[in-house]
Amino acid sequence: MNIISVTDLKKGFDGLGVLKGISFTLQKGEVLSVIGPSGSGKSTLLRCLTQLEPIDQGTIEVCGDTMVTTDSNGIVQYASKNTLHTVRLHCGLVFQNFNLFPHMNVLRNITEAQMHVLKKTKAEAEVTARALLVKMGLEEKEKAYPCQLSGGQQQRVSIARALALNPEVLCFDEPTSALDPELTGEILKVIKTLAKEKMTMIVVTHEMSFARDISDRVIFMDDGLIVEEGRPEELFNRPKNERTQRFLQRYE
Ligand code: ADP
Ligand code: MG
Repeated sequence: MNIISVTDLKKGFDGLGVLKGISFTLQKGEVLSVIGPSGSGKSTLLRCLTQLEPIDQGTIEVCGDTMVTTDSNGIVQYASKNTLHTVRLHCGLVFQNFNLFPHMNVLRNITEAQMHVLKKTKAEAEVTARALLVKMGLEEKEKAYPCQLSGGQQQRVSIARALALNPEVLCFDEPTSALDPELTGEILKVIKTLAKEKMTMIVVTHEMSFARDISDRVIFMDDGLIVEEGRPEELFNRPKNERTQRFLQRYE
């Protein structure tokens, strides 16, 4: 079953093309890594999928719902408010810089959206939040504020916050690139655990050995296009495209 299906997605800023016709699908339980040089459009792709950016052209389907499509006259048609809301809940996003609410403690960071968006009671939301904090190894930290936590701990809170809404797919935008190298491992371990549990995920990352390790499929993007796509052992060991080869050489 397709969780996400993207067809000919185009997006530009100020007339400059950033995504120039992206098409791919993501199956339930699949882990897809997206690699590529800085500026190739990886974050923009995730932001279009999670409705943080409007698209210029193309079709995005999520869990069988058409979130947005483009008619034969080239007019972009977004779904109804209700459908967009449902689709938004299906796609969680974990940001590079955590984006926690600085004035709320850890527990409230995780309960807030559950109460407002899922209409859970405070008690229900706290049960979910506490279970996720245990899973993230942060059960001691529920009263702490983000500024009292390490980057790795903050990122684990933001993963818990995303999981609390029970998404069908979780997108990560370079989840370790704001972290000191010694804190990177703890986040990669959490993502690995989620992969073992068959969480459907899209992971934008510069951690090549990690991408090779966890992914079912890898996409290499350059200049707003998918240049190459394949199983990790193919794409990393035998890249077919010369641009993929040149990019991967930098990580050897
Ligand atoms: P990546 O995540 O692969 O580094 P991005 O998707 O962040 O790439 O950016 C792709 C291009 O789009 C870059 O040239 C960037 O400057 C441009 N861009 C991204 N967001 C905006 C924005 N809000 N306004 C203008 N240009 C943007
Ligand atoms: Mg980016």
